Amino acid sequence: MKKITVLSLFPQMIAEALSYGVIKRTELDMQFLNLRDWGEGEFKRVDGKSVSPGPGMLLRADIAAAALKELGAAYVVHMSPRGTPLTAEKLKQLIKHNHLIVIASRYEGLDQRFIDNYVDEEISIGDYVLSGGELPAAVLIDAILRTEVLSEDAVADESFQEGLLEYPHYTKPLNFENKTIPSYLLSGNHALINEKRYTEQLLATWLRRPDLLRDYDICGIKSDIKNPLKKIKKENMLLKKRLQDFEKAIRENRNVRRNQR
Ligand code: SAM
Repeated sequence: MKKITVLSLFPQMIAEALSYGVIKRTELDMQFLNLRDWGEGEFKRVDGKSVSPGPGMLLRADIAAAALKELGAAYVVHMSPRGTPLTAEKLKQLIKHNHLIVIASRYEGLDQRFIDNYVDEEISIGDYVLSGGELPAAVLIDAILRTEVLSEDAVADESFQEGLLEYPHYTKPLNFENKTIPSYLLSGNHALINEKRYTEQLLATWLRRPDLLRDYDICGIKSDIKNPLKKIKKENMLLKKRLQDFEKAIRENRNVRRNQR
């Protein structure tokens, strides 16, 4: 990717969100444009009342199209709760485009005819509705810039890179409120550290996001996740205890709900 252009009614909101930390070092050509610059009349109107019954204003197709026509060839994304969920996989695909145009809308969204004629893809940042597309656009662009700025090594072990959640991290002090750092991390044995971290990744993913494990390929073989977890349970007392606590919490939660009925 070489360039990102943002089209929004509040482009500064997005530019500001992207001006902190590691991502501000980006070398991508970044453009933040205000859709109102293509607005109609003295008041630069960009919206119109929805023709469907019920309340709601929409961003006009002709205004958005006028803006887009000045921007040249690009892959056009509209941020929308109806879009494809944003994932690490989706990011990898988007990064391949030379020029990305990200449209953040407001009101009830954009006139469908503009979406049909000009938008390559709609992207959602989650199953909830925000008041505007600026924060979703900032989320998408932050994730793109971070991947672009950081080295492959820096992101290799992170959550979702290999289909698993990340292992836990620790720093000084060695003893915090009677909790110590797992001894394998201080052992200097890299093979052991890698093995334990992998176990932690599997466990965290299994406990928190079992949906991610459905297609996860353990040791290059598409295998049933239950087997490695059985092995973990047997071999590692600490993890076994955590699994037992988790299973107990589930049972208690189920009982509480049953008693409430
Ligand atoms: N009427 C729309 C619906 O129900 O799908 C919601 C419109 S929302 C109030 C206004 C704009 O915020 C959307 O058009 C979109 O650009 C943005 N937006 C809100 N939630 C979003 C989400 N979860 N992901 C991506 N964009 C979102």
